[in-house]
Amino acid sequence: MTLTPKQRVERIVEHAMCIGCGLCQAVAGTDKLQVVKGETGYLVPIASDDIDAKTVDIIEDVCPGIHVAGLPSNLIATDSQHDNVWGPWTRMVRAWAGDEQQRHIGATGGVLTALASFLLTSKQVNFVLHVKPHETEPSFGQMHISRTPEEVLQGAGSRYGPTAPLIAIDQVLDLGEPFAFIGKPCDIAGLRNYAEQDARVNELVKFTLAPVCGGWGPPATTRNFYQRMGVDPEAVTGLRYRGHGCPGPTRITTKERVVDAHYLDFWGDDESMWDMPFRCKICPDGIGEAADIAAADSWVLGSPNRLDSETDPGTNSVVARTSAGAYLLAEADMAGALVIEHDIMPDHMSIYQTHQMHKKYAVGPRYQGLQDAGQLHVRTERLRVAELASEVPRHEYERQRLGTMERVKVGKATQPKPKAAS
Ligand SMILES: Cc1cc2nc3c(=O)[nH]c(=O)nc-3n(C[C@H](O)[C@H](O)[C@H](O)COP(=O)(O)OP(=O)(O)OC[C@H]3O[C@@H](n4cnc5c(N)ncnc54)[C@H](O)[C@@H]3O)c2cc1C
Repeated sequence: MTLTPKQRVERIVEHAMCIGCGLCQAVAGTDKLQVVKGETGYLVPIASDDIDAKTVDIIEDVCPGIHVAGLPSNLIATDSQHDNVWGPWTRMVRAWAGDEQQRHIGATGGVLTALASFLLTSKQVNFVLHVKPHETEPSFGQMHISRTPEEVLQGAGSRYGPTAPLIAIDQVLDLGEPFAFIGKPCDIAGLRNYAEQDARVNELVKFTLAPVCGGWGPPATTRNFYQRMGVDPEAVTGLRYRGHGCPGPTRITTKERVVDAHYLDFWGDDESMWDMPFRCKICPDGIGEAADIAAADSWVLGSPNRLDSETDPGTNSVVARTSAGAYLLAEADMAGALVIEHDIMPDHMSIYQTHQMHKKYAVGPRYQGLQDAGQLHVRTERLRVAELASEVPRHEYERQRLGTMERVKVGKATQPKPKAAS
């Protein structure tokens, strides 16, 4: 059956591939498509009946839900190193923000906030496009343009709810000013895809910085979390997932009270309990392969220890992927904006980020399962998906492939047709 252009947009949501980054709204224009909170609580694209095929061709090309590429080859430095799991890299370090407040308020050690602030104070960029807590949806993030370190700090901390940093990228580019972009690896992938359509991206985006990302919290899971913490979801006025320590308290605010939970109360005590959108489970790049710099936690096996949480000052493991990224680390270190503890290697990253390593191997068989089940999957380039899959033992490959087919069968890879929340 031939799909209409509108149905092609809906299919991305229905096959659970939409990540809600907002890029399709910037591509189509708000008269043709709007990314809004849907009935499911996710941010979803609502296309008009008359959206045209040419626009949807572009959307299908740039959408990071269904198309993710690694670092553009012209950005791979001649002295770059390469790891099959961790991709191209120029330097890996453990580090934290030189400024105590940035380190404390930041999600981990405040490295992304420190680098973004340094780019502003050293006048390498005019502003930073990133996100901060949403003004009306307590669990969401919202795109934000920061022109001062104080504003950058307002966006510090990880947002684990729906967030659309690219929703107005067309208007941001219209400003015609050099800027840095901070976004999840999928947001960076969207921006890099969009560079193929709009030459201003490569002219104006001077640095891309990414938090390494294992996935975020589905809206229904966040509501359950509020209830588990004894808070009526309708009464919530604010949600700070982490930061103000490492990971710091997960703080739910209502008009009457403040409830502090632990990061592990939100995520669960081990990886098997992490709940996330289906698309995140098949993510080909949670490690920021297309960013100049990706910053992560440094917890062994990816989770904090409840006992250390009050005292951990926060240390990022940081991967610079380009020459510009390595140079920025060195410059920020020299200026005192960053404290570099010591260099590390890909094996350290695999100890801190075991879940990322496992996913890198698992996505190939999972895509095969999606294909076998007739579902959309993610088109990838320069991410070594097939190569890594070829290293997976046969029985494990089959377990991943069949498990994915089973998920499709029971509806875990399906979302309803996008409809705006009433
Ligand atoms: C959804 C999500 C999942 C993550 N999963 C992992 C993981 O599996 N392993 C790991 O080591 N680290 C993970 N992180 C990264 C970790 O939480 C820290 O963000 C990272 O270590 C950088 O810390 P920092 O102190 O330097 O960040 P900060 O200095 O606090 O800066 C964070 C920056 O990220 C931006 N940001 C926050 N949330 C979002 C969002 N949802 N979308 C786009 N931009 C955002 C903010 O605007 C801010 O500028 C995840 C982060 C997110 C947002």
